[in-house]
Amino acid sequence: MTTLAQIMPIVPVQTHRGPTQLFLNFDGWTNYDQQGHNIHPFEEGLPQSVQDQDIQDILFRASEIFAPFDVKVSRIYGDGFYNGLSGETAGNTTVFIGGNDINIHTTSNFPNGSPDTWFQKVTDSHAPGDYPSLNPTADWPYWKENDHPLNSDAFDIGYVDPMASAVGDVGSWDTAESNTQISADIAHEAGHTYGLAHVRTEGGVDLIDAAPTYSASNPPDLMSYDAPMTRFINQTFNMTSYNNNGFSTEYDDGTSVVWQFLYLPGIPPGGPAGQRPFPRGRRQYRR
Ligand SMILES: [Zn+2]
Repeated sequence: MTTLAQIMPIVPVQTHRGPTQLFLNFDGWTNYDQQGHNIHPFEEGLPQSVQDQDIQDILFRASEIFAPFDVKVSRIYGDGFYNGLSGETAGNTTVFIGGNDINIHTTSNFPNGSPDTWFQKVTDSHAPGDYPSLNPTADWPYWKENDHPLNSDAFDIGYVDPMASAVGDVGSWDTAESNTQISADIAHEAGHTYGLAHVRTEGGVDLIDAAPTYSASNPPDLMSYDAPMTRFINQTFNMTSYNNNGFSTEYDDGTSVVWQFLYLPGIPPGGPAGQRPFPRGRRQYRR
């Protein structure tokens, strides 16, 4: 959890009524990208009883992660179905869980890595608003779109693909992640769609301290890049621009969010009483 979440209550943004909904779709999405790629149903090919048991377990675990918050986790059914409502019921997220054939790596779409990883179906989790991407749909203010209030998209969609193949055998996929890991991935990606950024929990500061190094004893925040992803911890951490590029975690300055203070409707110039505006044009490292 970052300071961003704590900033939100002072901003008089109109919020939707009732809890925020997190919908989980296990039924796949045919041609989800309009370019012929398919998200396959979760554990496609396994017995229905196995699928049902794992889906119930994942729903339960994801619900437990969000239990302290006003986020209600439920299942949504149907090929490509997501919650795209706007207006007073807006702000919901749908995460698709299933093998995505866009994650089959070949020399044609994955030429930069070790040959050991070519011709392999790999796991992948992402959300279009994935911090610190500059994707035009990112759900926070950034240099290209600095009038976009944090977490103001009508709805968001995330993807968790837990399926992988052995190297050289892209035709045979297995579930490579445990239900616990899948649930954590869901919560992490949903966290991005609600405006949460990556954090380094060990206390270091980008560009001043060394790159965040994973340690099992670091606070296990779900948005961390250096700790086990277990739960959303009620503690303020530094955000980080270190990002996973598919091979390793690198500092990615080109995709850093540059925060600019934004006067939202109803806030007088100078900011709300007792609040200091963000410095214009400066990257924020908040403790
Ligand atoms: Zn992330």
